[in-house]
Amino acid sequence: MKQTPLLFRKFRQLLACVLVSAFILSGFSGCAPRQEKEVDFRIVTSFYPMYIIALNITDRIEKVEVSNMAGQQTGCLHDYQLQNKDMKNLETADAFLINGAGMESFLDKVLEQMPQLPVINASEGISLLCSDEAHKHEHEGHEHAEEDYNAHVWVSISNYIQQVETVTASLMELDPERAEQYRKNGDIYIEKLAALRDEMHQELDDLPNRDIVTFHEAFPYFAEEFNLHIAAVVNREPDSQPSAKELADAIRLIRETGVKAVFAEPQYSESAAQVISAESGATLYLLDPAATGEDDPDAYLNAMKNNLEILKEALS
Ligand SMILES: [Zn+2]
Repeated sequence: MKQTPLLFRKFRQLLACVLVSAFILSGFSGCAPRQEKEVDFRIVTSFYPMYIIALNITDRIEKVEVSNMAGQQTGCLHDYQLQNKDMKNLETADAFLINGAGMESFLDKVLEQMPQLPVINASEGISLLCSDEAHKHEHEGHEHAEEDYNAHVWVSISNYIQQVETVTASLMELDPERAEQYRKNGDIYIEKLAALRDEMHQELDDLPNRDIVTFHEAFPYFAEEFNLHIAAVVNREPDSQPSAKELADAIRLIRETGVKAVFAEPQYSESAAQVISAESGATLYLLDPAATGEDDPDAYLNAMKNNLEILKEALS
């Protein structure tokens, strides 16, 4: 008889243990919390500027996930090599948001394997500038292929607004259940961008100097929008250093034309720009094409606000 209460106590302890465990397990992996995190629309973006567009349009919309294929610090995709994890990521995507205009040269390879993947081409309907290399070929009678166009469409705020509009309309079509929310977010973002564009015009339109020298072909759309003249692009291949001849040519051109400002980009090495600045007497500034940055929906707006301050100083 003495053993019964002991067994009973053991049994009670065991029962309590089981109940506590069940409670903890239900808290961490039970149905209710998991359902809140469930994703039912997955957007994969090709690179940073598209990621920032998607963050804004999907802001505070539940069960929509945005992931950025190239990561936040890759920059332009000119030499991007598609990886296995990218293909895996795209296999379960409900939409693949690309810049278009030739930036994603790997797109054919993706569509060959996933012909059903819905692709949103943000640059659709935007009139594209030729790359300078293509200009040379044009006179030799070549037809234009997509890689002959300048892909840096988003660096003009007007183009970027059109991209936001295209992405908004496409998401409304692909995910009609949330159409109203996408529309609302898209409109809010476009309003902010348009206000900044107006402010930039007010500040920049009357500045006396319009000539700039840049590295890498990121700024023609931006220059067109604000009526700036790109006197020279020093280095068209962003990942290589300019040759000695390219450096010498740029320095001579700056001296001859009296260009006062050289603009490097935060994404690329400054050393060549420093040499040119030191040798030519032009001041070196950083201009940001918003191709990399923070994981922040306001990153594009902030980059353009910084560019405005820099241009005001450089061109006065
Ligand atoms: Zn680029």
